[in-house]
Amino acid sequence: MSKRRPSPQPPALTAEILSHRKGFEAFVLEHSDPWHREHLGRLFVRWRTWNGEHFESRLEPPYLLLAEPGFSRAYGACGELSGFGGRSQIRIRPSLVIGSHPHIEPEERFAEGRRRFVDDVLLHEMIHQWQFEVLGDAEPAYHGHGPIFRDMANVIGGVLGLSAVRDCKRRGTGASLPSCSQWPHCVRPAGHYLGAYRRGVSAGGDVGSLERFAARFLRCRLEQTDQDTAVAEVRQAVEAAIEQTLARCEVIV
Ligand SMILES: [Zn+2]
Repeated sequence: MSKRRPSPQPPALTAEILSHRKGFEAFVLEHSDPWHREHLGRLFVRWRTWNGEHFESRLEPPYLLLAEPGFSRAYGACGELSGFGGRSQIRIRPSLVIGSHPHIEPEERFAEGRRRFVDDVLLHEMIHQWQFEVLGDAEPAYHGHGPIFRDMANVIGGVLGLSAVRDCKRRGTGASLPSCSQWPHCVRPAGHYLGAYRRGVSAGGDVGSLERFAARFLRCRLEQTDQDTAVAEVRQAVEAAIEQTLARCEVIV
């Protein structure tokens, strides 16, 4: 049984807000620069499909931009407020589309894989939009990637045939699962991005190896030592330090 407190109602989307956002989508589809029209046009089609398939059509078109997120290690971001004070701005890093991002292959033969990767960034950000606009609960204590995000990711993931993820805090029975802060990229099958995603160079891969090594080391040490209070405290402190370091290294979406 969830112990969450009821969320406050999200601010209403007025007729002016909805009109402006629909007008923005129409401009992108009909009048934007060809490169933007190609990629944002596809993303708006994806957005509308997924809004129906996964969100009961409860979302309204966002301000969808190919623009750098504020956080340097993020592939994308969904802001509750846009840069001009509108509501729900989704930014996706252009280097992922172009192929100049260090995690992405640049050659033309990887174009379809890049599109799949970028589409997945949008799907991730749509859950944040749903948190802001439908639930009114962005889970700030989890930087957006808490139990609400996790559960929605796992519902959608179940439809897509993806394995489960945990919330961003590594603890409890789900501690060994990947974090929803990198969903769905972290649970897509290896071939899904057709080789466009350099999974091996991502911080997530490296950090995962480090985490497993550190956990194994700690277990070995503790098995050789009395489980007194001092040892437990040291273990707690070390694990907290590892957790913080891993959190700083993680790529997020
Ligand atoms: Zn996120």
